[in-house]
Amino acid sequence: MLSSKDKQHLNLFTRYILASIIVFSFLTLIHLWITDNPIRPVHFLIPVFVSIVVGFTFASNKILQLELIQLANTDKLTGAANRLYFDKRLNQEIDRAKRYKHLFSIIYLDLDHFKQVNDQYGHITGDEVLKGFSDIVNKINRESDVFARFGGEEFIILAHMTNKNAAYTLYSRIKKAIDEHEFKRVKTISFSAGITEFDIENDSIDSILERADKALYNAKNNGRSQAVIA
Ligand code: GH3
Ligand code: MG
Ligand code: MG
Repeated sequence: MLSSKDKQHLNLFTRYILASIIVFSFLTLIHLWITDNPIRPVHFLIPVFVSIVVGFTFASNKILQLELIQLANTDKLTGAANRLYFDKRLNQEIDRAKRYKHLFSIIYLDLDHFKQVNDQYGHITGDEVLKGFSDIVNKINRESDVFARFGGEEFIILAHMTNKNAAYTLYSRIKKAIDEHEFKRVKTISFSAGITEFDIENDSIDSILERADKALYNAKNNGRSQAVIA
């Protein structure tokens, strides 16, 4: 079975090679016409061969370029987006929200007592928990949302076209999935969350993040394993 990445690569190779065949065949036709030569299949053998080589080279470069972009935007351990990518998308979302009066929400997530996980089970198990947590959230999120690792055991979700109540529903679905998941060795973990909605009139990138952070702080102070809406 081909993975979706393999399919995407195959698609790129096919498109680039076909495009090259069309261009080189067209040039060959013009050449034959200008030089008053008859059109025979044999005249197309070299152009088709060149097209395959050129198409393959261009497609390989394109794939490399896409992979580099992906690498630059991704957190290596968890596969979630990184902070750089999140900031870029948050800036874009704020512009869009102001222009089209769209709503969006931020959910700031922090694993509870994660230091104890490392202390008790070791750093490698801690890493596996981070990866497992990230995989679960990624499955629940919609394509249009951005899920990023903000650093350490902190993650953030940009929930596109979502008000704070719908963001709370999203949080509840994540919480249920995490509660039900049995992590290797550690078994259960919990996390706290701060939820806030973008205020079109008054918010900036800093103010919305600050509010989500304060809400998270309150969730921690209220006893953890819960979300606070700011
Ligand atoms: P709280 O409930 O208040 O959030 O407590 P906490 O222990 O989760 O928070 P604290 O900030 O005290 O500790 C965070 C821990 O996360 C400490 C650090 O070693 C661990 N950590 C940060 N990044 C990584 C990582 O990439 N891998 C592993 N295994 N641990 C990490
Ligand atoms: Mg923590
Ligand atoms: Mg933390």
